Amino acid sequence: MPGYEYFELEKYPAYDASKWFNPRNIKISSRQFPLLTSRSCPNRCNFCAMRFVMGDKIRFRSARHVVDEIKYIYDKYGINYFKIYDDNFAFDRQRTIEICRLIKQNKLKIYFEFPNGLMVKTLDEEVIDNLVEAGALRFWLAIESGSEFIRNKIMRKNVSEEKILEVVSLLKKRNVWVSAFFMLGMPEETEESCLDTLSLIEKLDIDNFTMPSHVNPLPCTKLFDQCVRDRLFTAEARIEDLWKGDFSYSNIGPEDFFIKPYNMEIAKLKEYDKKIKALVLQKNAAWEKHRAETTAHL
Ligand code: SF4
Repeated sequence: MPGYEYFELEKYPAYDASKWFNPRNIKISSRQFPLLTSRSCPNRCNFCAMRFVMGDKIRFRSARHVVDEIKYIYDKYGINYFKIYDDNFAFDRQRTIEICRLIKQNKLKIYFEFPNGLMVKTLDEEVIDNLVEAGALRFWLAIESGSEFIRNKIMRKNVSEEKILEVVSLLKKRNVWVSAFFMLGMPEETEESCLDTLSLIEKLDIDNFTMPSHVNPLPCTKLFDQCVRDRLFTAEARIEDLWKGDFSYSNIGPEDFFIKPYNMEIAKLKEYDKKIKALVLQKNAAWEKHRAETTAHL
C-alpha cells in the first residue's frame, strides 16, 4: 500500500463535481483519485510505446489488494471517484469481476472511470454488468480507426466492427457515459479508410467523442521504424522531438500531420480530418442537447 500519510492530499486540486454526470445521485467528492491496478499490456499495437515504459509483460495487483487500497482512500479521505490509468485494465476477466465483487461486498459507494481507454474486446455483457454495478461510470473505448484493414491488419487492435457495435450497444443500455478514441494519419491511410472512419463514427451511438488524434510515430515503435525506413515524415515533423508528443513543440499545429501516407496526399487527408472533426462536433452537440433534455444530473 502506498504511504498516503506522506502525501498532503489537501494540497491537490479539488473540483466542484456537483454538475457531473451522476446517475446514482451520490455526492461526488471534490477530489478524484488516480489508481494503477496493473502494468503493461500483452497486445502489440504498432504505434504504441507503452511497453518501453511499463515493461513487456503484463503484471496485475490482486483484486483484494486493489480493493483494499480503494477502501482505504474511501474510508480515510472520503474520496469516492477513482480514475484507473491502467494500460489494459480488464485484460484478466476473472480479476475484473473479482474487483467488482469486492467493491460491492464492501458496500463502497464509488464511481470509477478509465481515462486511458479500455480494450473493446475485453468487454462483454457479464463484465460490463459487473463494472457498472460496482460503479464504473465512464467508458473510454480505444477504437482508433473505422477501417478494418487499418485497425486490425496494420495497427493490430484485433477487434471487429461487429464487436465494437455490440459493446457500445450493451453500454448504452446501462446509463453510463461512453466515449471513444480515434486516430487519423497512418501511413496506410487512404480515402477509403477515412470514409470508413467517418462511417463508423456516424453509426456509433456514443456520448462524447474526443477529436481524432493525428498519429504520432513514437521512437522505438514499429511505426516509427517504418516511417524512418520509408521516409514518411512530413516536413513539419522534427524526428528528435517526437517523443515530446504533439502539443510540446511549435512546428506541428493541430491541422498538421506527422506522416505522409503512401497513397494519399496530405491536402486530401486534411480535408477528411476536417470532415471527421465536423461530424464529431455535430454528434457531441446532439448528445449534449439530448442529455440536457433528459437528465437533471449533468
Ligand atoms: S491495447 Fe493499448 S496499451 Fe496495449 S499495445 Fe495496444 S495501444 Fe498499447
